[in-house]
Amino acid sequence: ESALLCWCRAGFEPELAAELNERAAIAGHPGYARTQRNSGYVEFIVEDANALSRALPWSQLIFARQKLVRIADLSDLNPADRITPMLAALDALGGSGLNVSMFGELLVEHPDSDEGKQLSGLARSFGNALRPALRKAGWLSKTDDARRPRLHVAFVAGDHAMLALSDPLDSSPWPLGIPRLRMHPDAPSRSALKLEEALLTFLDADERQRRVRDNMQAADLGAAPGGWTWVLMRNGMMVTSVDNGPLKQELIDSGRVDHLRADGFTWQPRRTLDWMVCDMVESPARVAERMATWFRENWCRQAIFNLKLPMKKRWEETRICLEAFEHQAHRPLIVRARQLYHDREEITVFATPK
Ligand code: SAM
Repeated sequence: ESALLCWCRAGFEPELAAELNERAAIAGHPGYARTQRNSGYVEFIVEDANALSRALPWSQLIFARQKLVRIADLSDLNPADRITPMLAALDALGGSGLNVSMFGELLVEHPDSDEGKQLSGLARSFGNALRPALRKAGWLSKTDDARRPRLHVAFVAGDHAMLALSDPLDSSPWPLGIPRLRMHPDAPSRSALKLEEALLTFLDADERQRRVRDNMQAADLGAAPGGWTWVLMRNGMMVTSVDNGPLKQELIDSGRVDHLRADGFTWQPRRTLDWMVCDMVESPARVAERMATWFRENWCRQAIFNLKLPMKKRWEETRICLEAFEHQAHRPLIVRARQLYHDREEITVFATPK
């Protein structure tokens, strides 16, 4: 049985399953999802998981934090020796078309769910035991090597682990697909982490240098209390922060932030801004439509915005809103969308004209 294994936010398994179902079918690799509510992962069973993985680049998946190709499913592991069956599974695969002679890194993971988190201690200590055994058997490079595939051991129970692999160029760089960001003591709100994660996720290092620069002009719609404004300001930008609510005083005192008490759905800039960001809590269709207007009217060169998802049919709503956004912008756009680790009932979108 061949399968993709994807991590996701606990509770969003139906959304990820629906996304994989639809996209795999469109890509000509139909399959079916196997999942449990609140487990934090989805297995997608398909005839050729390698081919499907190539057809669905990680960067285009919205509800997957990580995309792995499963290579073995080991249940009933004996806690006294989990290593021997894993090495045996790798050796057996070596003969049957696993096109890997050596892995460049080992990640021992667990789902980011209530149950899965209890496996974090096991994952850490087991990784320390397995790493030298893999090296001895010739399965793992002596030092981390980003040109080789990574081996993932995914514990879903103490006696049940899946072996999987990822392509470093087509997967999240972070264990569990979760970036380790620390809340800065000066940040006005935890939301600051969302925009920081968005900049890290949607832009590579080159793009960040080009697209995030000193003295750029930005607008923040729905800015209060000011977490996103603070991130833009810390990146050297001049920010117009639109919100009827109050902003943290230090932002105003910085001299780089203008606070406008106005409606984010009607306010418009006098000339084209480098950035627009938007975190207004409103229906996703209404936000998507307003964001499209910004691009149609050329009011900004790039944007990051959130779409808050309703309780039902979140995948369908996501697809419909993103399609409407691209259609109503009346120009070809680069669009990247993802449910970030710091996103709850929402997704984050980056857009810029092609
Ligand atoms: N991104 C902010 C941060 O990092 O601190 C948090 C934003 S909070 C989730 C949503 C904000 O949107 C609220 O402060 C609310 O006042 C504002 N908002 C909602 N509707 C708005 C509108 N029509 N115009 C302007 N602001 C709006």
